This record gives sequence, C-alpha cells and structure tokens, in this order.
Amino acid sequence: MSSDFQKLRLVDVHLFSSLYDALHRGEPVEFRPRIRQGIGIIYELFGIEVPEERARAYYERGLLEVAGEISFPLCTVCRTVCLHVVLKCPECNSRNIEKRELMIHYDCGYTGRFEEFQTNSLGVYRCPKCGKEMKRVGIDYGRPGFGFTCIDCKAVFQVPLVEIECEKGHVNRIQQLELRKCPVYRLSEEARRISEVFSIVETMARRLEALGLDVATFTRITGSSGVIYTVPIYVRGDPSLVIEIAPERITDETYPILMTLKAADIPNSTMVIVLPASFRPELEKIFNPEKIRIIKVDDISSSVDRIIGEIARIIGVVSHERH
Ligand SMILES: [Zn+2]
Ligand SMILES: [Zn+2]
Ligand SMILES: [Zn+2]
Repeated sequence: MSSDFQKLRLVDVHLFSSLYDALHRGEPVEFRPRIRQGIGIIYELFGIEVPEERARAYYERGLLEVAGEISFPLCTVCRTVCLHVVLKCPECNSRNIEKRELMIHYDCGYTGRFEEFQTNSLGVYRCPKCGKEMKRVGIDYGRPGFGFTCIDCKAVFQVPLVEIECEKGHVNRIQQLELRKCPVYRLSEEARRISEVFSIVETMARRLEALGLDVATFTRITGSSGVIYTVPIYVRGDPSLVIEIAPERITDETYPILMTLKAADIPNSTMVIVLPASFRPELEKIFNPEKIRIIKVDDISSSVDRIIGEIARIIGVVSHERH
C-alpha cells in the first residue's frame, strides 16, 4: 500500500467518522471552497483541508452533492486564485505609502497629515505650507478623515491605486480579472447512509483482514448491467463476498428488492446481509436465498464476533460448494 493511498484512506476514515458525529448532532454539513495561499482552492472537511481535486473525487463517488457555487477571481496570466491586493501611490506607483488622518487648509488648498498642522495650543492649527493659523473647522480647514500619503514622493491622496497581484507576481487590474466558479458541496444521501454503518464496517473489515482475507471497504463495483454500486465490505475471492449492513428501520420491500437486484447484478459474488433482529420475516422472504445469506443480530456492535464467525463459515461453505 503506497503512503499516498494510506493518506487518502485516513482522510476517508476521518471524513466518515466525523460525518457520523455531525449527523448525530443534527448539524447541517456544507463544505465551502476557500483559498489557501500557496495551494489554491481547498475544502475543509471537518478540520482537515483537502485540495479541490479530493473534494471532487468525493463528489464523483457520489458522497457529495453540489449545493451552490462561489466565484473566485483568477490571475489573467497564470490563472491562479492565490491573489492579494496591492495599494500604490497614484502619482509615482510607489508601494511605500502610509494610511493617515488628513487635514486640508482651504485658503491655500494644502492637504497633509493631521500631525503636520498641530500647534502647542489645543484647537489651533497652522498650515505647514503657507504658515497661516487655522481655527474654524469647515471654514478655515477641513478634516476629510483617513487617506494616504506617499513616503517617496510626498503625494497625499484619499484613494490609492488598487492592483491585484498573484503569487507569481503578475499584476492585474481589478476590471481585467477573470472569474472561476467552484461548487459548494453538501452531503449526499449515500454519504449519510454510509456514515451510519461506518464504524461497524471498519471494525468488521479489520477482523476479516486478520483472517488473511483481501478486504476493501466502501468500494465501487460495476454490475453486469453497468450500474455502479458502493459495497460496504467487499472480500475478493472466487466468488467474492459482498457484505451489506441493513439500516435499523426498514418499513417496506424497497430494501430487500434492491439488495436482491444488486446481488444478482454483481458478477461472481455472494451477498451477506447483516439484519437487525427486528427485521420483519415477510420482508426477509424477498431475499433470493441462492445469492444472499442472512445473519440476524440483536445488537450489531456487540455481535461482531458472531458475525465474523458466520462470515468465515459462509466463505468456507461457498468455496466448498463450488468444488
Ligand atoms: Zn499570475
Ligand atoms: Zn496654507
Ligand atoms: Zn508617490
């Protein structure tokens, strides 16, 4: 197993276990794209940042759905989203500027930093350009608030030149920037379903691996019909074993019918379904006994030993029947 694969696997484990917790707490789960400088678009999945390709892979696996879109500006040269704002002096293009409170002397029109006009007496100011005393606000002088001064050319201005620079140093005017839309994701129904059985599936998979079996969890298998199924536990072999955990509350025949179709469609496989003891016998009859083995348990978490034992026995029986 490559370390990349192991890392992805850890993100999967983290995602599904966090998902399970979040859904139990009834929290709305939405993943919004963000910019991480130096990387690009990232999504935060319960405290772990993943690149957008990873989030898209979850979307393609059917675990996320698109809930909306957000636009991000792009550098017109290299198309990165990692941009920052640059403020410059509009006179000399210097970036050596300061934000200051400004004052203006109406008589001579001089505008400068407030401190330049201060005298020793409170409320009395003196224009540093013409030397006149100024006392009355709105008549002698104005205080237009904050503005900028250029350290290099001494220009005073209220609105600096605004440019957008990318991480590679390409300079863009705001009006020239292009936009790229990125999806906002939310959990799919499938992800909700998977999260319900996630921890028990992980436990069972580790136990089966300890028996020397080749096990994959939540893997995608293409049926003979071309339909792609997510299989909670898949034990590779001849035949392979498709292990399903039934949800707690099943009220109609949809689940047994779907499972019967799935069992028939996945080539060279036998299906094992772990059912809650409360499962209604009349619905149980729908499962095709030639393709589906049933393990019924009162409480799944405390029945792992028994389930693993039965699966081991089924694998023995299945391979025995074929020889
Ligand atoms: Zn660029
Ligand atoms: Zn003056
Ligand atoms: Zn300047």
